[in-house]
Amino acid sequence: MSFLASTRFLIGAAADQLLPHQCLLCGKFCVDRGVCAACWAGALPISAPLCHRCGRPLPHALPDQLCGQCWRTPPPLAAIRAGFAYNDFSRALILRFKHADGLYLTPVLGRFLARHFAALCQPGNLVIPIPLHRHRYLARRYNQSAELARWLAPADDFAPDILLRRHHNKSQAGLSRAQRQKNVAGVFSVAAESRAKLSGRPVMLIDDVMATGATLNAATTCLLAAGSGPVHGLVLARVL
Ligand SMILES: [Zn+2]
Ligand SMILES: [Zn+2]
Repeated sequence: MSFLASTRFLIGAAADQLLPHQCLLCGKFCVDRGVCAACWAGALPISAPLCHRCGRPLPHALPDQLCGQCWRTPPPLAAIRAGFAYNDFSRALILRFKHADGLYLTPVLGRFLARHFAALCQPGNLVIPIPLHRHRYLARRYNQSAELARWLAPADDFAPDILLRRHHNKSQAGLSRAQRQKNVAGVFSVAAESRAKLSGRPVMLIDDVMATGATLNAATTCLLAAGSGPVHGLVLARVL
């Protein structure tokens, strides 16, 4: 490093220590980097004991580690994990992330999901974000799930072009479980030229919010039918 570059680096590092940071969520000045302590206090991280399969928090550890619903009808995914419960905190964070040019939140959210990502990672897996329809993509200019996946995955594993969204389903908000399933049925497809790459490989799907799991289930059914290996799912927040 040249003398000038190292001086600039030292001045930058000193300023970083001395100047207050602005909370990425509420905008108040604070000593913390990223999201301030007051905002973090509203977070509900999901932790053990969990259903081993769907990741739902359990009131206490169960010998088989499966919730009642997974006993009766296990999801097509091998396992699902979520960073947060969906509440006021995670809703504000996710809205900021996807609607307000909030890409600056990617490392904050990525770091938070990193340990779940490491726990779910399978050797040789492809990391696939739930795609947005082209119209929504054009309106938002980025797919927040793809940005998270890109941040989390090694470059060789990141595969945003394999899963396609065939048509523009209505928003899932306000729909019942059955209506949600119907709304996303047949929405996904696998690009014909990607089948060889996908064949037999485990997949990690990344999405921002999971409500009933209808979207993750539909994407997984499509990937398995196209010949993928087992599919795991990682989401930022889930509705409990
Ligand atoms: Zn804050
Ligand atoms: Zn379960």
